[in-house]
Amino acid sequence: MVVVMTPDATDAHIEAVISRVRQTGGEAFVSRGVHRTIIGLVGDVDRFRALNLRRMAGVADVIRVSTPYKLVGLARPPGRSTVFVGRTDTRPGVPIGPGVFTLLAGPCAVESLEQTFEAAEMARAAGATLLRGGAFRRHSSTLAFEGLGEAGLQILAEAGHATGLPVVTEVTEVGDVELVAGYADMLQVGARNMQNYALLDAVGRLPKPVLLKRGIQATIEEWLMAAEYIAQRGNLDIVLCERGIRTFEPATPATLDISAVPMVQSLSHLPIIVDPAHASGRRDLVLPLSRAALAAGADGILIDVHPDPESALCDGPQALGGADIRELASAIRRLAPVMDRRNA
Ligand code: PEP
Repeated sequence: MVVVMTPDATDAHIEAVISRVRQTGGEAFVSRGVHRTIIGLVGDVDRFRALNLRRMAGVADVIRVSTPYKLVGLARPPGRSTVFVGRTDTRPGVPIGPGVFTLLAGPCAVESLEQTFEAAEMARAAGATLLRGGAFRRHSSTLAFEGLGEAGLQILAEAGHATGLPVVTEVTEVGDVELVAGYADMLQVGARNMQNYALLDAVGRLPKPVLLKRGIQATIEEWLMAAEYIAQRGNLDIVLCERGIRTFEPATPATLDISAVPMVQSLSHLPIIVDPAHASGRRDLVLPLSRAALAAGADGILIDVHPDPESALCDGPQALGGADIRELASAIRRLAPVMDRRNA
């Protein structure tokens, strides 16, 4: 069961609900979103029903949820969520959610100041509203470039500042979470860490949006359970990212599961974006898969850009150069209104 609080519910109202639930031997997990707080209940549903929680002050609704992911599984009403990235007292933040189509773009790996600034400018000029770049990287290959670490975070933050774009970057270790959060506006949990519960615990305790990529071999339910784990720690600002799953088809590194977009939207209120580059590993497939993502209802896409893809230290074959990202941007501009989306 999920208790949806009214927008003006106070801490005292929330505490009163929790304490009543605990009196029945149940557990209550609070998740504070930007527009509403919801409380997921775990325990005996019949006993919860007898509590008449709907009548309590500050309670907007009590919804029976039969899925195991109660906080993120809340379907309409009250509707799909929007996550705002880079929100401050003076900035509203960049929205990811219904009605908009958000372009996250940047260098797969931060290699140098020059390369990152150029990639950031390419991303901004193409209409990206979030700058994504990797400073801490873990790959399947032990020979791959592992990133510049904190120096990379500094460069990324400077490039974000110069272009005015909030930054998104991956965190791979629990011990780095505080450090990365000090530079980033949104923390990415990569596919290989989707079920790293210590990491999910750490990002779940921070007041920062999380981009949770789907594990390469994860079912949609396992992915939503990972999101639930974050939400149970109090952080409901989660954006899901479909990045392809392993199938028997060897033509691409992963098979983009485009059906995951509408499927997730039927199961969860969380925004979902698509990463066509890591699924396909090929820049010529990025544009058609991006169009497919938009047409399927995704809330945005994540694209790798590089000023000189041929010399990229990581994932060059899937990175877009100047002409490619301009073509992609123009395709989005034309298709987004058809899908009732505006560029974020
Ligand atoms: C990435 O986004 O940089 C990345 C490595 O993707 P994934 O975790 O999906 O493999």
